Amino acid sequence: MVRITSYGAAGTVTGSCHLIQVGETRILVDCGMFQGQEYITALNREPLGFDPTTLDAVVLTHGHLDHCGRLPLLVQAGYKGPMYATRPTYDVARFILLDSARIQHEDWLRAEEHEVRHGRHVPPPLYTEQDVFDTLDLFEPARYGEVLDVGDVHITFGNAGHILGSAFITVEGQGVRLVCSGDVGTWEQHVVPEPELPAEADVVLLESTYGGHVHEPLEQAMETIATFITEVVEAGGNVLIPTFALERAQDVLFILRNLYREGRIPDVKTFLDSPLAINFTRLHRRYPEQLGRAVKRVILRGEDPFSWPGLQLTRTQRESRRIDFIESGAVIMAGSGMATGGRIMRHLFNNLWREECGVLFVGFQAEETLGRALLDGAAEVEIYGEPVVVRARITNIDGLSAHADEPQLLKWVAPTRASHIFLVHGESPAPEALQASLQGRLGLESTISQRGVTYEL
Ligand SMILES: [Zn+2]
Repeated sequence: MVRITSYGAAGTVTGSCHLIQVGETRILVDCGMFQGQEYITALNREPLGFDPTTLDAVVLTHGHLDHCGRLPLLVQAGYKGPMYATRPTYDVARFILLDSARIQHEDWLRAEEHEVRHGRHVPPPLYTEQDVFDTLDLFEPARYGEVLDVGDVHITFGNAGHILGSAFITVEGQGVRLVCSGDVGTWEQHVVPEPELPAEADVVLLESTYGGHVHEPLEQAMETIATFITEVVEAGGNVLIPTFALERAQDVLFILRNLYREGRIPDVKTFLDSPLAINFTRLHRRYPEQLGRAVKRVILRGEDPFSWPGLQLTRTQRESRRIDFIESGAVIMAGSGMATGGRIMRHLFNNLWREECGVLFVGFQAEETLGRALLDGAAEVEIYGEPVVVRARITNIDGLSAHADEPQLLKWVAPTRASHIFLVHGESPAPEALQASLQGRLGLESTISQRGVTYEL
């Protein structure tokens, strides 16, 4: 008897949380934060939907907040069992969870100050730093390929090629083999290795973020970056790159380093203006054996894949503020990736109104973010409560995704020849598109998972 219930990332791309019961053994795969618009983030405060004390183990696919962000809630609710993850995932999750606790605390202080004046109740942070430390205490390291015995089942981690440490999970027991994809990476990337393919399986929980979509090839993305930077610098402006701190920042650093060495971009001052991205870059250097082939080759030559003479790391606010005086010839990478906060806001405020400057987006821009507004051609935006006219050139690179596109998802799932595929981690119409292609191209039936609905096999 197998029971599968998705308590998150069903109909949404965030809040990953899947309960798998094989016989009497209950495994929870991921417990991530719901992110995005308010009606989605409100789900973080709803009951989990299951009793964490009945779980035999928690397994974490990777350290992104939408996969690990609600783990402390399990511990608050009395869970004391193991949380299995690869060693790099532990390190990533540590940074991500502590950062999340800090941001929630700061937001709460700010909101309370504001809301108290309006006499409304402000809900406190979901968890504190101490809750995060209590959660990290339960982590147990797992290696790729290692078999872990939990109750009646065996659990193995395969490399998902998505971010540093990312894994897909195979659960075997009672004659059934079940695969949880986590987030599947792409075959077109530098920093982490290609995804490993799963073996044959009966059941697959498959992510569907990019159902119906084909990414631009990586080389084309690099060409666009090179041309954009060259043109903006020649026009006498600065280039701003809103960057996610984890994986995308390292991707962009590696690409800029190569473009610079190949003479495809001018020798410009480049700033990595994000303490979190600086920390994650350092973390990548600690796991050279877990990085992609292109990056490994550079390391084997004794070179640093994420640095070059023109790169400056700015950790402190004071260092960051010095960038404000630069009017031309600088490339500035800063968070957040969707321009929803962080140091990039100051750089946008300083540069967006200048027609010689440029903004290069390197990742998905969700609805209702400043990033999306700029990409959609807004003539004026509001930053720090002040109107800013948009005169800078704005462009978007689609080829740097850490997620498989539809052809790659099909390539990944094909070897499983699974008789039951549940599509998770996708927003309509992506899962519907993938469902049609699974049927049309591979002859595989699938179900689009509904949140909180239990499927029994
Ligand atoms: Zn992810």
